[in-house]
Amino acid sequence: MLKSFSVRTRSRTQFVNITPEVEEAVAEFGLTDGAVLVYVPHTTAAVTINESADPDVVRDLNGKLSELVPSSPNYFHAEGNSDAHIKSTLVGCSETILVRDGALVFGTWQGIFFCEFDGPRTRRVVVGTL
Ligand code: ZN
Repeated sequence: MLKSFSVRTRSRTQFVNITPEVEEAVAEFGLTDGAVLVYVPHTTAAVTINESADPDVVRDLNGKLSELVPSSPNYFHAEGNSDAHIKSTLVGCSETILVRDGALVFGTWQGIFFCEFDGPRTRRVVVGTL
């Protein structure tokens, strides 16, 4: 089973908590035990799992990524967004999440974040059963 939803980002880089949308997809699938793949079909965005309790955690992740991979006119790619492409590859475009008793198997603080690296844009996230 497959489902997609859109994410509207509001700045060039932004981490958006998409845990509720993924939980909704699991409920729609009627999946009780198994796994889902959360997939981002973009080359300048990504998905990651990290702490969702303190918003400063993803703020730090986003800030450190920009420090490690700065925007620069010195890349070859003429579109001017190579920093976003590099961050996308570093973070990755999918996450696999186990499902037990209809719920995501998560630790207390974990959440799923869509990572925008070249916004603002309307993006798509795909959730599929495995
Ligand atoms: Zn590009």
